[in-house]
Amino acid sequence: MSRVYNFSAGPSMLPESVLKKASAEMLDYEGSGQSVMEMSHRSKVYDAIIKGAESTLRQVMGIPDNYKVLFLQGGASSQFAAVPMNLMTKSHKADYVLSGQFSTKAYKEGSRYGDCKAVASSKEDNFSHIPSLDQNEFRPDADYFHICLNNTIYGTVWNELPDTGEVPLVADISSCILSRPINVSKFGLLYAGAQKNVAPAGLTIVIVREDLLGEPQEGTPTMFNYKVMAENESMYNTPPCWPIYICKLVLEWIRDEIGGLEKMEERNVRKAQVLYDFLDSSKLFKGCAAPDSRSIMNATFVTGDPDLDAKFVKESTAAGFVNLKGHRSVGGMRASIYNAMPPEGVASLVDFMRKFEAENA
Ligand code: PMP
Repeated sequence: MSRVYNFSAGPSMLPESVLKKASAEMLDYEGSGQSVMEMSHRSKVYDAIIKGAESTLRQVMGIPDNYKVLFLQGGASSQFAAVPMNLMTKSHKADYVLSGQFSTKAYKEGSRYGDCKAVASSKEDNFSHIPSLDQNEFRPDADYFHICLNNTIYGTVWNELPDTGEVPLVADISSCILSRPINVSKFGLLYAGAQKNVAPAGLTIVIVREDLLGEPQEGTPTMFNYKVMAENESMYNTPPCWPIYICKLVLEWIRDEIGGLEKMEERNVRKAQVLYDFLDSSKLFKGCAAPDSRSIMNATFVTGDPDLDAKFVKESTAAGFVNLKGHRSVGGMRASIYNAMPPEGVASLVDFMRKFEAENA
């Protein structure tokens, strides 16, 4: 067996020990005589899995008791609609910061459900940094204020949260969930697609402050109604059973093998530093994100020559470093170095880049 280093932006690598455990439990989960894929979501044995996933998520992230955790489907993109449907119910206004493609999609989708305002944007600089904010643009009566905390395509991250006063802060944390500690109480709502740091695709996590769970907008489908989902403990219908099980294993890996989110952050910062230090000293490669906005999860870089970029992607793939091609909308390269990417993977990539530089600079 030979496994590649997979730098995909998502779905992405999962910890090898999680894959091994899932594999060992595949045919007979804990003496049940069934795979988790086959069992009823209403069974006692599955109930322990979903409850365990939630309690471990609460423990690892330090989620306060006045927040509900929802295990949903539909991807983060569904939340672009579900958030306004559930939260844009008072002034019908919401403020959005456009820091990349996904926050722009969220803003456009939100605009179908109420008065959304783009209060800042870094589009003119091809989203290479987190936009600077003018608080005079924020609307104090907005139902919420939306940001995308880590911008997967551009490799940027918010290092300081906006001060939105009483207006609930909503964040898409799809590409940084569980990468470092986060103070949940600073947010009204957090949401994430699981397929980068948590589980295989198919699970969407929403963490929402209880007092924000009211009656949604008229016409909201039941499946999008947070209150219904919360009242039914994410079991209004069949939940994404298998991804929730893997989510539980990944959380146990973070807690028991890594040692929690502080340790996870240290490991991720060290990994990212190795790559950024190389980019900063390279004569061939150049990082795309502004240094003060650099993400520790997604690193974007170019050679400056699209043909050389293509050569690099081709040769790196052949050498076992896969999915380094940048997003189709920006080109260049992107190394997504999520939690499950081992430090050796980044070190080996840098060795490969150094060799490529020597041969091509
Ligand atoms: N937000 C962010 C930050 C993302 O990276 C992605 C997917 N790459 C999405 C939203 C969309 O997620 P999904 O495919 O789960 O709808």
